[in-house]
Amino acid sequence: MTIHPPLPPPPDAQPPAEASSRVTPMMEQYLEIKAANPGLLLFYRMGDFYELFFEDAEIASRALGIVLTKRGKHQGVDIPMCGVPVERSEDYLHRLIAQGHRVAVCEQTEDPAAARARGARSVVRRDVVRLVTPGTLTEDTLLDAKANNYLLAIARARGSSGADRLGLAWIDISTSEFIVTECSTPELAATLSRINPNEVIVTDALLGDGDLGPILRESLAVTPLTRDVFDSSTAERRLCDYFAVATMDGLSAMSRLEATAAAAAVTYIDRTQVGKRPPLSPPSREAAGTTMAIDPATRANLELTRTLAGERRGSLLDAIDCTVTPAGSRLLAQRLSAPLTDSGAIARRLDAVAAFVADAGLRDEIRQTLRAAPDMSRALARLSVGRGGPRDLAGLRDGILAADRALARLASLQQPAHEILAAVEMLRRPSREICREFEHALAEQLPLIKRDGGFVREGYEPALDEARSLRDASRLVVASMQARYADDTGIKALKIRHNNVLGYFVEVTAQHGEKLMAPPLNATFIHRQTLAGQVRFTTSELGEIEARIANAGDRALGLELEIFERLCSLAVAAQDDLRAAAQAFAILDVGSALAKLAVDDNYVRPEVDGSVAFAVEGGRHPVVEQALKREGAPFIANACDLSPVPPPYPPPQAGQSGMGPGQIWLITGPNMAGKSTFLRQNALIALLAQTGSFVPASRARIGVVDRLFSRVGAADDLARGRSTFMVEMVETAVILNQASERSLVILDEIGRGTATFDGLSIAWAAIEHLHEANRCRALFATHYHELTALSSKLPRLFNATVRVKEWQGDVVFLHEVLPGSADRSYGIQVARLAGLPAPVIARAKSVLAKLEAQDRGQTARALADDLPLFAVPSRAAAEPAPPSEAEKLFQAVKALHPDEMSPREALEALYALKAKLAKG
Ligand code: ADP
Ligand code: MG
Repeated sequence: MTIHPPLPPPPDAQPPAEASSRVTPMMEQYLEIKAANPGLLLFYRMGDFYELFFEDAEIASRALGIVLTKRGKHQGVDIPMCGVPVERSEDYLHRLIAQGHRVAVCEQTEDPAAARARGARSVVRRDVVRLVTPGTLTEDTLLDAKANNYLLAIARARGSSGADRLGLAWIDISTSEFIVTECSTPELAATLSRINPNEVIVTDALLGDGDLGPILRESLAVTPLTRDVFDSSTAERRLCDYFAVATMDGLSAMSRLEATAAAAAVTYIDRTQVGKRPPLSPPSREAAGTTMAIDPATRANLELTRTLAGERRGSLLDAIDCTVTPAGSRLLAQRLSAPLTDSGAIARRLDAVAAFVADAGLRDEIRQTLRAAPDMSRALARLSVGRGGPRDLAGLRDGILAADRALARLASLQQPAHEILAAVEMLRRPSREICREFEHALAEQLPLIKRDGGFVREGYEPALDEARSLRDASRLVVASMQARYADDTGIKALKIRHNNVLGYFVEVTAQHGEKLMAPPLNATFIHRQTLAGQVRFTTSELGEIEARIANAGDRALGLELEIFERLCSLAVAAQDDLRAAAQAFAILDVGSALAKLAVDDNYVRPEVDGSVAFAVEGGRHPVVEQALKREGAPFIANACDLSPVPPPYPPPQAGQSGMGPGQIWLITGPNMAGKSTFLRQNALIALLAQTGSFVPASRARIGVVDRLFSRVGAADDLARGRSTFMVEMVETAVILNQASERSLVILDEIGRGTATFDGLSIAWAAIEHLHEANRCRALFATHYHELTALSSKLPRLFNATVRVKEWQGDVVFLHEVLPGSADRSYGIQVARLAGLPAPVIARAKSVLAKLEAQDRGQTARALADDLPLFAVPSRAAAEPAPPSEAEKLFQAVKALHPDEMSPREALEALYALKAKLAKG
């Protein structure tokens, strides 16, 4: 809890209005500014504080745990008020933003003295200088160094047949990144979860929309804006205005819809920064289908960038992130969130990692160099909106120096990888002139803020040196005056001190005060103040010196600030080149970090191609492996092969589509055996491969995965108020409707959230559908042993099990995945390991024995033999053939007895079947 210190009198304090309806001029000003900024908390500057009034004060005092007080009355009612000291305001802003609030910062824009000069009742002029919203931050203290901070705008074009298109534009003003794309309404949730924006802007209509509203309200901060911000007819003009160009054609190719979203985003940025325009890269367009589609549920299940509990620690990103710079960390997060689908582009990333794997010296030296390269893009963003400090300038200097060191090291490479070569080009771009200028100009020790000066190196600017030595010499004169006055007056304890109210003054204890106030000393010493223990005086000589010091100090500070502005504009003018170098650092950081990971954790380069292969040897789970390693336990590697079955194919059976792409592995085994781990590790291996990373395996060949799906049965989703089984089914429906031959599907214990036979039936039908209709590569873990019977019917379905050993009545988990199926679930043994009381275990065993006597497995095998597969709809024609036709065909096939037929009869029967098909 923060206690609000007592307030100093505000510079333009008004006598509190009586209990009348009279509105004070200050309150009038406040209300006017407040009305112009609806939906924002108003930080109203009064002296050293930002004050909040009325409802704002109530909200902020609750959110920040600060004391709510009162200040005067408005229309006869007390005005609630709270305040935060300006010096610590960033901390408070951070907390308000994190809780989803938006703040308008209102400053005094003139000296209080100027207001007083206009008349006693004049109010100091104030203006909102900035809106602080979650998606438009630049301050280091408000940003997460390792994550991008995106503002995202969504524009909609209504399609004629109900197929709306959405234009998306997202911007990180702290790094200048600006990207646009289009998607359809069903793709929005996946796209949003990939980009993970900090703030989304839309029209009111979109937020109220039946389809889009619920998706939007799931992201923390949605800011609805008026329609004009999303007006497509003015979009191009607003973009041109922002980029100060006559036409956008030269900058970027965008669809009209993308341009509308882009214009909305820059308009909002313009508004929040109040006239200061953070420079942005020209919008780059992301083509559809260039990244692996991963829906929000899959992202969450696989814990890619955050764990299910919402933490970075324990996520895949956390496990693989060995980068040494914040920008590298951000780039890695971007890449991991959007794995590529173009095998050529993936290979280029892998080439860079391979180069750093092959050359340990290069890897270590580059990483060492990068550690000294600061976050240049964020420093630049701050400098360009006037929020930068001397250390940001020094950061750019150090960045260029680091670029030179990196270039020197990379120059020795014989045949650098494409990505490294591109980085070299980018590192060459910044002018070395700037660096030299900054080296000359900046002092060794730099203050955080420019306000008090002290950052320009001695010898850089003669006029500054002169002003400074005048100031410092005068300070010495003051010191010698103290000695002289002590001599002249005979008061040894006489001191010359300084404070902000009196300036320099002579101070003596009360007992000596009389002496200075009496002749002859009172001719020199002029009384200023009497305190409890001391008396203070000034002298005309001290006044003169003081003016000299102040003048010299002011002049020195003025010169320093001028120099700062000059250096700052040098940096801003060179920002494109500096940003390119920053991007090059990030690329080198990611490449060398993934190489370090590969070497430390024994990863291999995957082969990624356009096939639908999936062959992993010695695969491991990247996160579980690290966790076990910390405990000194080994991870058991396992192979997985979901590649198309090579010919010769087994003979097709009735009603099925024969051989096609991927295999499905059905994995059975007791609880705790390692089924879920095995499923996830294979999904993560594919994902890492397409991110352009080496993978935790001894060999891996992966045909590019277009979409990755992962579902876990009965996941708790109480927060969204849906039954867990409903969630499970909704998510399964998405997979069965969307997975293509190129997709990879992971289903973990689907059907668990309902009664046994329900669940078994659903799992059964889902596997058939995956096999016949989706034909994707899939892994299916289940506790329904009955499902293993399906493999006799489905030629691409393979049974695998995780081995356990029974030893003296206990289970021992071996974590080895082998062909075959588990004959039992060992649930009772696991229950015993978990410490269930012995009588309960004994009773469970006897119940199980009775149930097993009835043999549920037998029923299932009969089911697999007897039940025809449903007629599988082709993906193009969604309607199944009329059941009667299929039935006829089925009966005809059933009537055939191949063993009793001659080859000729068999051929004729085949023709007859074909003819039946043609008729049907
Ligand atoms: P299941 O899904 O079969 O119940 P899990 O995949 O959740 O089992 O695994 C249970 C635990 O077993 C994991 O938390 C992990 O500690 C351990 N484990 C799983 N697979 C392996 C493996 N291949 N090597 C070593 N330990 C493993
Ligand atoms: Mg499991």
